[in-house]
Amino acid sequence: MKIQLPDRQVDERDTMFARMARCKSTAAYQEYYTRRPELKQIDDRLRGMPRLMNPQGKYYDPEKSEQAQNYFDAIDNIEINQEFVTRSVQELKVGKNPKKIIIKLAHELGAVAVGFTDLVEAFIYSHQGRFDENYGQPINLDHPTAIVFLVEMDFDRMQKAPRAETILESARQYYRAAVISQTLVAVLIQAGYAAKAHYDAHYNLILPALAIKAGLGELGRNNILIADKYGSRVRIGAVTTDLHLESDALVSLGADTFCRICKKCAKNCPSHALEMDEKSMVCGIDKWPTNVERCYAYWRQVGTDCGICMAVCPFSHRNNRFHNLIRWLIRNFKWSHRLALFFDDLIYGQWTDNNDSFSK
Ligand code: SF4
Ligand code: SF4
Repeated sequence: MKIQLPDRQVDERDTMFARMARCKSTAAYQEYYTRRPELKQIDDRLRGMPRLMNPQGKYYDPEKSEQAQNYFDAIDNIEINQEFVTRSVQELKVGKNPKKIIIKLAHELGAVAVGFTDLVEAFIYSHQGRFDENYGQPINLDHPTAIVFLVEMDFDRMQKAPRAETILESARQYYRAAVISQTLVAVLIQAGYAAKAHYDAHYNLILPALAIKAGLGELGRNNILIADKYGSRVRIGAVTTDLHLESDALVSLGADTFCRICKKCAKNCPSHALEMDEKSMVCGIDKWPTNVERCYAYWRQVGTDCGICMAVCPFSHRNNRFHNLIRWLIRNFKWSHRLALFFDDLIYGQWTDNNDSFSK
């Protein structure tokens, strides 16, 4: 299998969250919509909708929405466990296999999978876009290695999508990923290497593409990473460093061919943001495109980050013997795909109980 590289770098300023971070009357707003006038009307309308975790959202839950906000707020004030760091620095300094040690440390901190890859420019954003303070600054990241890891989203909480439990679970896992990446960075720096943490709102990288390159999964029709054992029920974090580590091989889970017949995510997407038909070329990558404006408009309508396309994916079932056997069959035998899908529909149903009407 060959990795598909984007044919150009993505500018973080063009991502949905960066676009939504622009405020009228700021220089960044003026700059962005002078350059991208075609997005001004739709973005102004989206910005005018109630914010996520806001009482006006359909699935607002005072307790859960507040807890979610608290996790997001805490991400920038994480206290690193210095005892863990000191012990880990020693391990890294005396150990013979740094890759094995980093995997062990990441797992101790709560990661469920870890992969390594060389860092190519195509996966690095060209310019900063999320915050006004450094808006538009070119990103210069010359670390040769990326350590990419996954944290698991709880199965039962994800089954509540698109209600408030899902954004609370997202917030918890973004927080966990931030702790892991910041702790690993502290270990690497104290061991004498340069390192940078990439976590919620502080990414210089396109993480799903990087996770695929690090051998952690495939891209699904839902445009989200599909990982072994967890499907789309994961969040991604990363650390880049000047410590040279051998890249992992790409993996094939059978997801690309399974997605062609499944379409469960696209059928159940309340905003019809996912592609029901064929792939097309997006920035040089042959993939199923997502209408990000429609997706995000639904998030603002309900006040959560939805998550239906993660929850309904047949690859996202529990990590247990039975489902891992089905995953193994799908990975190794194409003939099993229709059979697996038939039983998935029979046991879990084709549709969620969500019947929200979506106003574009
Ligand atoms: S998060 Fe929800 S609205 Fe967005 S693509 Fe997935 S199912 Fe559709
Ligand atoms: S729900 Fe089906 S089509 Fe969508 S990503 Fe999962 S396997 Fe692919």
